[in-house]
Formats: sequence, structure tokens, C-alpha cells
Amino acid sequence: KQHSGGNAYQHYSESLGSQISDTLALENALRRAIEEDEFELYYQPQYDMGTGRIVAVEALLRWPRPDTGEMVMPATIIPMCEESGLITPLGLWVLRRACRDYSRWQRQRIAPPRVAVNISARQFQAQDLVETIREILQAQQMRAAQLELELTESVLQTQSATEQMHALAGLGIQIAIDDFGIGYSSLSYLKHLPVSKLKIDRSFLRGIPEDEDNKAIVEAVISMARSLKLQVLAEGVENATQRRYLRARGCDQVQGYLYSRPLPLADIEALLQQSD
Ligand code: C2E
Ligand code: CA
Ligand code: CA
Ligand code: CA
Repeated sequence: KQHSGGNAYQHYSESLGSQISDTLALENALRRAIEEDEFELYYQPQYDMGTGRIVAVEALLRWPRPDTGEMVMPATIIPMCEESGLITPLGLWVLRRACRDYSRWQRQRIAPPRVAVNISARQFQAQDLVETIREILQAQQMRAAQLELELTESVLQTQSATEQMHALAGLGIQIAIDDFGIGYSSLSYLKHLPVSKLKIDRSFLRGIPEDEDNKAIVEAVISMARSLKLQVLAEGVENATQRRYLRARGCDQVQGYLYSRPLPLADIEALLQQSD
């Protein structure tokens, strides 16, 4: 058996080459998926802890790949689309589809108060986002207050983002800060940005209430939200211990597998029907 540096290098460069071509193949497949309308939205309900009612459903992207039969998750789709610029048409598709579904629920009289849509940092930078959203709302005969945008802290850094947020909030759109606590930006933005809700990242729910560090963070966020008169939602609630703890601490809203997984359209409609 022979071991040479040359072989090792060749092996390395082949696998790097195949990684690059895999990436390109996936990118092409995603581009085609947008054109062929292959994506789907799943919806996960968010509950008010006081009333037990659904206050919103969050749209979550899925791609049932026709060629492999695999369900491709957003952790694969979104970063690739951000890199390639495909996020703009894809993000638009998500907004349109979520609002179209919501407007259907209104006609069926099963609509929850709001539908929440995730907006990626790069998508938020598009100059015409506000105008586009205004048009979509009008086309679907939705009130702006029925749409909530979930933005991560990474979006909030720029001046143009600040202006965009004020314009959106000016229309009456709700803005939630997603994955709150894992970004490292300063908290001062909460004073001057039109934010209505903080979503505590699910990593902080882990080990609650035994994990002292996570407990301290969750309690601090809930009490800060209360002082700033913001809604606070805990995501990734998986068990009754977490639910009891959050209720006792005065958390407003919850979302997680304990209540419901993200559901395909027919199933979320059945759930909305029965919780009406
Ligand atoms: P996110 O916005 O923080 O969404 C919550 C994620 O946690 C979802 O994963 C959801 O399925 C999962 N989850 C919900 N409850 C639980 C729970 O109790 N336990 C656990 N372990 N997980 C739970 P998903 O659908 O894979 O989405 C991952 C991320 O991809 C989202 O995180 C969001 O950042 C992004 N994403 C999803 N859809 C879109 C979209 O349409 N546009 C953009 N820009 N990003 C999206
Ligand atoms: Ca989200
Ligand atoms: Ca989140
Ligand atoms: Ca998250």
C-alpha cells in the first residue's frame, strides 16, 4: 500500500471539487424550485398564555424535493439563497403565499389575529420592501396589523433598516425581534425602534428551570419586556415544566412542540377550525 502526499492532495481536491459542484447543483435546483413553485409553507401556532388562544401562526419554509423525495429545511435553503441573491424572489414568494393563505382563512372565518413571516437580513435591505408589502396587503385585503414580521437583531444595525422599520410600523405592521438574546447588538435599539414583541430564542429554554444561567436570562428578558411594554414570547417550549415556569414568570406567549409542531396547510386549517 502506497501513501504519497500527491495522492492525499488529489483526494482533497476531488472532494473540494465535488463540494463545489454539489453547491452549484443545489443552487440550480433552488432556482428551478422557485420557478416551478415547489416550495411550501408550514405554519406553527403561537399561543397566548392567559387565554390559551392562538394569537398568530408563523410561516416556516419547506421544500419537498421532487427528485429525491427529501424534505429540505430552511437551514439549508435560506443561507444558500442569501449567498446567491435568490432570497429576494424567495422571500417575496413567502410573503405572498403567507398573505394569500391568511386571506383564505379570513374567508373561511378561521383566521387567527395575525400571520408571522420571517424576513432575512438581506431581504430586509431591499429598498422596495415597504412598497411591495403594501401592495400585497392591498391585493389580499389584509389589514397591516394582521401581518407580523420576524426580524433578527442582525437586521437592525443599519440606518436604512431603522428607516424601513419605521415605515413598516407606520403602516401598522407588527415587528417582532426573533431569536432575541443571541445577537450581540446593544439593547439601546429597543428604545427607539418600533418593536412590538421579543421572541426569546429557544436555546435559552434548554434546562429550564434547573439551568441557572438560562433561568437568569429568561427572567431578565421577561422583566425587561414588561418594563418596555413589549410582548414577550418564548419559543421552543417542549415540556410542561417549561410551561409552568413561563406562566409563573408572566411570559405572554408561547410556541413550541408542546403545543404544536409546524403543520402543513390542511392541518393548520383543521387546527384553526377546531380552536375557533
Ligand atoms: P425560527 O424563526 O427561530 O423558527 C423556529 C424554528 O424552531 C423552526 O425551525 C421550528 O420548526 C423550530 N421549532 C419550533 N418549536 C420547536 C420546539 O419546541 N423544539 C425545537 N427543537 N424546535 C422547534 P425551521 O422551520 O427548521 O426553521 C429554522 C429557521 O429558518 C427559522 O428559525 C428561521 O430563522 C428560518 N426560516 C424559516 N422559514 C423562513 C422564511 O420563510 N424566510 C426566512 N428568511 N427564514 C426562514
Ligand atoms: Ca421566526
Ligand atoms: Ca426564532
Ligand atoms: Ca431560532
